[in-house]
Amino acid sequence: MLQAEVVRVDRPYYCPQCRSNRMSFRLFYRLVQPVRKDPYTGAVIEAAPGPRPAVPEEAGLEVQCPVCNFRAPESIFVAAAAREPAEMVDRPGF
Ligand SMILES: [Zn+2]
Repeated sequence: MLQAEVVRVDRPYYCPQCRSNRMSFRLFYRLVQPVRKDPYTGAVIEAAPGPRPAVPEEAGLEVQCPVCNFRAPESIFVAAAAREPAEMVDRPGF
């Protein structure tokens, strides 16, 4: 289970490339498994349980827009949405 601080998926996204998509996205999560290796043979001599979801210092969440396939760190999509917030008229049903 991902911890809340790992992702900001509850923030609005906006694709800064095609500028047409605010609703459909692919989230790419990274997994981490720390290991210790024998420096001569390359054999894994110790491995932590895992893999587990990466924490922010290790790797951020990546987002892809399925409309234009632009893929970037989540912060790019969050910043684009903050720069150009959705108008209520964009919302289906309004
Ligand atoms: Zn796009």
